[in-house]
Amino acid sequence: MVVTAPDQVAQEAGWLDSFLADWQPGTGEMHTVNEPATGRHLLDLQMSTPADVARAAAAAKSAQPAWAATSYQERSAVLRRAAEIYEAHRPEFGTWTMRETGAHRNKMHHEQNFTAGEALAAAAMPWQPYGSLVPTVQKERLSMIRRVPVGVVGAITPWNSPSVLGMRVVAPALALGNAVILKPDPQTPVCGGAMFAAVFKEAGLPDGLLQIVIGDADTGQALVTDPNVNMVSFTGSTEVGRIVGAMAGGLLKKVSLELGGNNPLIILDDADLAAAASAGAYASFQFQGQVCFATGRHIVHQSVAKEYVDLLAQKARRLRTGDPYRTDVELGPIVNERQLQRVDDIVQRSIQSGGAKLVEGGTYEGLFYRPTVLTDVHLDAPAWTDEIFGPVAPVVTFATDEEAIELANASEYGLSAGVYSHSISRGLAIAQQIRAGMVHVNDQTINDEATIPFGGMGLSGNGGRFGAEANFDTFTQWQWLTVRDEPKSFGPTY
Ligand code: NAD
Repeated sequence: MVVTAPDQVAQEAGWLDSFLADWQPGTGEMHTVNEPATGRHLLDLQMSTPADVARAAAAAKSAQPAWAATSYQERSAVLRRAAEIYEAHRPEFGTWTMRETGAHRNKMHHEQNFTAGEALAAAAMPWQPYGSLVPTVQKERLSMIRRVPVGVVGAITPWNSPSVLGMRVVAPALALGNAVILKPDPQTPVCGGAMFAAVFKEAGLPDGLLQIVIGDADTGQALVTDPNVNMVSFTGSTEVGRIVGAMAGGLLKKVSLELGGNNPLIILDDADLAAAASAGAYASFQFQGQVCFATGRHIVHQSVAKEYVDLLAQKARRLRTGDPYRTDVELGPIVNERQLQRVDDIVQRSIQSGGAKLVEGGTYEGLFYRPTVLTDVHLDAPAWTDEIFGPVAPVVTFATDEEAIELANASEYGLSAGVYSHSISRGLAIAQQIRAGMVHVNDQTINDEATIPFGGMGLSGNGGRFGAEANFDTFTQWQWLTVRDEPKSFGPTY
């Protein structure tokens, strides 16, 4: 069932709307953004051309050195003000987030908490030591290692959590003295782009240091290859990550890739099944499964599998789908028709030739896909091997802990994982053997905080991480600097 939206709810004009009235991200073709839940028109804007990207990169390059030379207090203050301005306009940003992405209210609030957290955490970064004195064999010289900004960071972000995925690049990169050119997905130009331009302008960030370009693959490629862009930070699919990584690598640029996932949740025979099924449903269905660290593989002990699947299916049946902005539902739309067809194709092929039994869901109305539970999935079925990015919970069973670990690790992705067990030592022993960037015992796979180095292994990324001390590694480079009091000469031969 799809809950239909009352027509009379209209978005009120606010602070961001007045900014948008004059916002001009490009000189290219007109682009229309519609609300996925209803198809209603949200805004029209002009896309950025490769020439726009080149202008932005040149301006960023010339603004960056002066910014890097400002005091740590000044850089910190801009970040702090940005966090305050973001908090002050949360309701309006929240509305845009729900309408552009199809997120329900809880998901939107989570994203907003993390977005504000990323800005606040970054505000503390300029206060940290940025190098050290190191021993040297030459006693009469001072030997230092220090972190220096990378220069201009080109950031490419996806549509699914545009605020936090943008802020986790923009805030630390600026805090450490870089300039940033941010290219959000063209489906979410407001909460992924304009919001940043408005917030940082109001926060007093000098001109040129944060520029937003709007476009798709062409704009992204222009950003990656621009000679004035020193580093590329890409968050998105593994497929596009490979292209971006190859392009940036060919130009010998630093590149950070945060990519897709197919994350396992292991349920042991001694687990609290009510809690485990609740976690499993949350991790596969919330935000329609369109989360990089959603649970894509439920690995359940054979002795509790029937009960777990029954509980999961009950929850799937109860969840309501509809317009998350105007109605009280748990699940909104899949972001677009192409992605909906991809999700359905994975489900149908897994049923037709991948052994999967459909326990619940597997149908859709418009862009609203029902939460779906599949059992008996073959290990080579697409619902098991692929990142689905839809509200689908495929379940397989195991007999021993070793088998569970093997199943969990039998994926080239390695982003997040969860293990449910009554025994903490058993849960921990399994968690330590899972190849993933983030592993949780008695919690599910969707977890993030600004205090941790977020990232994955294997096809989920190239090791460039976001958050905490990892931000220093990602957004700076080392310089060895030595000083001698007396000029050194090299004897009569030289
Ligand atoms: P996508 O790869 O299609 O697009 C991501 C961004 O890349 C967009 O801005 C898009 O316009 C741009 N882009 C597309 N083609 C490009 C090209 N050839 N060159 C340069 N830029 C290009 O991803 P999506 O479908 O928007 O997002 C979903 C994917 O992102 C999923 O795979 C999900 O797991 C992943 N994701 C990963 C993380 C993480 O932190 N690991 C977080 C969120 C989403």
